[in-house]
Amino acid sequence: MIQGCMFSGKSERVVGQLRAAREEGRRVVAFKHASDDRYAAGQIVTHSGQRIDAVPVRDPNRILDLTADASLIAIDEAQFFGDELVDVCRTLAAQGRDVIVAGLDLDSWGLPFGPMPGVAAIADEVVTTHGVCARCGSIADHTQRLTPVAGQTMIGGPESYEPRCAACFEPPPAELRR
Ligand SMILES: [Zn+2]
Repeated sequence: MIQGCMFSGKSERVVGQLRAAREEGRRVVAFKHASDDRYAAGQIVTHSGQRIDAVPVRDPNRILDLTADASLIAIDEAQFFGDELVDVCRTLAAQGRDVIVAGLDLDSWGLPFGPMPGVAAIADEVVTTHGVCARCGSIADHTQRLTPVAGQTMIGGPESYEPRCAACFEPPPAELRR
């Protein structure tokens, strides 16, 4: 599992691991949540512009239908899935596959994001990535939303967010959290 705030290099790690596995001749399939269309619907794109094909899915159980004979499965933007993702990961592991799950550990309120704690609990290894606080330059572990919260859609482009340390982080009003 690779978890951390935005701009902490999660996608770079995922893409790097998938590329390395492919070079070893392993069969690899990548997925991402379908509502994440920040850059490209069918790809994981890093902030530095590297990209790798990823199947967009909304229901995590679809992942079980689409993995075929892949021995390494990557699931990016995992925070947007429901808690069913935990069982999907368990099933994939029981099938003998390696699974990389990447996503935001904390939401815009600084609270656990979706299925991430459940996935972390069953992960063999959890890597927490950090960014650089856009305010003070210290280690960032929060994602600061810069535009007001409105409606159901919480996904904005990178320009809507910046990494912040816990001291500089300013959560939106608690009553706006769903
Ligand atoms: Zn700071």
